Amino acid sequence: MLQSNSGYAVSPHHRYNPDDCTACAVCTVHCPVAEATSAFRGPKQTGPAYERFRLAGFGDDDSITYCSNCKNCDISCPSGVPVAVFNMLARAAYRDKRGTVLRDLLIGHAGDIGRALRRVPACVLNFGMQNSLTRRLLDRIGLDRRAPLPAFAPLAERDRLRQGSAAAAAPGRPSRAAARRGKVALFPGCFVNYYEPRVGSAVIGLLEKAGYNVIVPESFVCCGLPMITGGLMSAALKRARTNSRELARLTRLGIPVVTPCPSCALMLRREYRDLFPEEEGLADNSAGVHEACAFFSGLQDRREFSLADARPVRATLAYHAPCHLRALGLGRPGIELLQRIPGLRIEDMDAGCCGMSGSYELKKGHYDIGMRIGAALFEAVDKSGAKIAVSECGTCRVQIAHGAGCAAAHPLTLLAECLGVTGA
Ligand code: SF4
Ligand code: SF4
Repeated sequence: MLQSNSGYAVSPHHRYNPDDCTACAVCTVHCPVAEATSAFRGPKQTGPAYERFRLAGFGDDDSITYCSNCKNCDISCPSGVPVAVFNMLARAAYRDKRGTVLRDLLIGHAGDIGRALRRVPACVLNFGMQNSLTRRLLDRIGLDRRAPLPAFAPLAERDRLRQGSAAAAAPGRPSRAAARRGKVALFPGCFVNYYEPRVGSAVIGLLEKAGYNVIVPESFVCCGLPMITGGLMSAALKRARTNSRELARLTRLGIPVVTPCPSCALMLRREYRDLFPEEEGLADNSAGVHEACAFFSGLQDRREFSLADARPVRATLAYHAPCHLRALGLGRPGIELLQRIPGLRIEDMDAGCCGMSGSYELKKGHYDIGMRIGAALFEAVDKSGAKIAVSECGTCRVQIAHGAGCAAAHPLTLLAECLGVTGA
């Protein structure tokens, strides 16, 4: 058991010591929610400051429900205090006391729902979810009817990724490419699986072009992030255990894992270990799990992936760096890749959080906050004159399309198109 500087016993559930905070308030300056609403006390208060009260058995604070887990506090803290981890653990304790909310159960298990409905045509699903009666009902259980919901992809596209998975998992399946570089495993993530499988298909196509045999292990499940933000820690731990078992197996086989979702990458690489330090077997997977753009950028640096045959494109794109990509500390590899396409002009919006933060803005009471947070980005996209915005995060793309009214794409779907890669 850790001992804090001021004498509190830090429970084994808390790897970090709140007294590491020097109260500099840098995190508060960088917190988009604290800037958008006075209802949130801000990262310094809800994180390390209140943690001392929580450790002493006090500090049941409603303000904790406002943290969006965007991680801008963690990115900016000069002392390395994991404020968002404090907040998510505190929120789970808060929910344990007050009871779980139906809205959080629905959002937390969206991946399971998507999997259960995988045989249902998109037109049925989208009508079922998006009609005004359903939106009113969802509104009553806490999902703001004004917030944009992503549309399910056509059955054929969802099947294509799923069949790619089943076929690739079969022993001896010949890769479309020569597979001269061995196997790589794709972790599509729930958003790609159910809403944008073409992103997964593009990544598979690009990996095969680079000479990999791509497998999509069926044993991977939701990374657990939507559960963490809803305070559903035991459900998230179950997913962490399942994914960690598969990651350990792939590591033993020397197979790298690639995901096009920065938030999934963050969870798989290091969040499991940070959120559940008492759980054995949840390793730091930073070496084996790769955000997809960073993976291709690395291949390119080592001359193992070429963009020399990319078709020239005359267009301007507005690039938005997702908060969780910035939290990974990998730079902006998506921009670096797209900048190599002849004729393409990329403008980095550099306008902060989009306001969606995964599912934050969907929750009643958060919609106006999310839209206020995203306003600078929407304005920047509008001013850029770009018809297409690019971002690695699926829910950032949904938010940009909603707030800025333009199309939004993953950098790798555009890259695949320019290279004539058709996908899995
Ligand atoms: S995770 Fe984001 S919203 Fe939460 S305290 Fe940190 S900066 Fe603020
Ligand atoms: S958590 Fe970090 S950034 Fe925030 S006040 Fe403490 S030391 Fe400063």
